[in-house]
Amino acid sequence: MEISTRAQKLEPSVTLAASAKANALKAQGNDVLSLTVGEPDFTTPKNIQRAAIQAIESGQASYYTPSAGIKELRQAVVEYIQRNYRLEYQMENVIITDGAKFALYLLFQAVLNPLDEVIIPVPYWVSYGEQVKLAEGVPVFITCAQEEKFKVTVEQLEKARTDKTKILILNTPSNPTGMIYTEEELQKIGDWAVLHDILIVSDDIYGKLVYNGAVFTPISTLSKEIQRQTIIINGVSKSYAMTGWRIGYAVGDQAIISAMNDIASQSTSNPTAVSQYAAIEALSGEQDTVETMRQAFEERLNKIYPLFAAIPGFKMEKPQGAFYLFPNIKETMDLCGYTDVTKWVDDLLAEAHVALVTGAGFGAPENVRISYATDLPTLEEAAKRITAFIEAKSTK
Ligand SMILES: *Cc1c(COP(=O)(O)O)cnc(C)c1O
Repeated sequence: MEISTRAQKLEPSVTLAASAKANALKAQGNDVLSLTVGEPDFTTPKNIQRAAIQAIESGQASYYTPSAGIKELRQAVVEYIQRNYRLEYQMENVIITDGAKFALYLLFQAVLNPLDEVIIPVPYWVSYGEQVKLAEGVPVFITCAQEEKFKVTVEQLEKARTDKTKILILNTPSNPTGMIYTEEELQKIGDWAVLHDILIVSDDIYGKLVYNGAVFTPISTLSKEIQRQTIIINGVSKSYAMTGWRIGYAVGDQAIISAMNDIASQSTSNPTAVSQYAAIEALSGEQDTVETMRQAFEERLNKIYPLFAAIPGFKMEKPQGAFYLFPNIKETMDLCGYTDVTKWVDDLLAEAHVALVTGAGFGAPENVRISYATDLPTLEEAAKRITAFIEAKSTK
């Protein structure tokens, strides 16, 4: 049986592939340091675990839920957005999904017609372009220079705009760059999107993970018009250490949310009930653990950034949010006599047993992504091994 062209054209997730490769090597008994995966290394906070256990034992979690999610959770999202964004929404503006990733998937399915264009600033999170293609849309990539902190400008957006442009995807703080757009930058971008009736998809998943005084401004908060033009994408995975529970959400225009819900109702039916009960506690319960985890990431960043910045040829700015470093390693390539970062990453894994993700999957073939969502000793040892690997290869 032939596989569909749709599936054949799809790129599998590079981050999941890189971590699978590292795990395979580990399973053979090798001492592998994996800095690949984009998930917190903390376990889900106890109060959230307990809420889930209670939902199971009481029997509440036994049944299908409404496909848009249980009312209490949608209401918890409304209140969370009220508290954190000072924006007013109704439950009808909210859909609960199987992770933020599936919220994005549903959104593209609900909004895009064949050949509609979606502007995606580069470097990008690996799934955006592939999901747009699955919805028969056309990803339009804009390369953002590292010197500009990888941020897109209105001038670049205007150059890329056509009468087919329907969506702009923004992700701040960014995976993989860790950069944050300022309020001023976002205001200009938001006004541009309103002027040209382009839907802003604001992926806010790292909004709580900002460091050293950096401030996350959600673009949706900058004017009533921008709010109307924006779909907020978020979830509990990153800030509550809940990646395995698969709960995300989208908030925005009721007609779009309702179309997303129709598609969800014919595909997944509903996100897992027990996870929804856990997510209510995450969003509405005590928030101290969020801050504790944020501080832990900040402390690690501050400790390991100088170590990685000192690796020969690694060029980067200190990230402001998320939990990744994203150095340009072109000079390292020159030092080691390599031309291809992906080959270098493969050899680093095979010979030094350190797993990174090649930047190619994020649209930045001269970079690598290093996740620091792991313990300090691992990170320190990884920096040492990478340095030793480069010194051993060094042809100069
Ligand atoms: C992790 C991540 C997501 C998806 O998270 P879910 O686990 O599906 O909720 C979405 N966007 C970015 C940028 C991410 O890094």
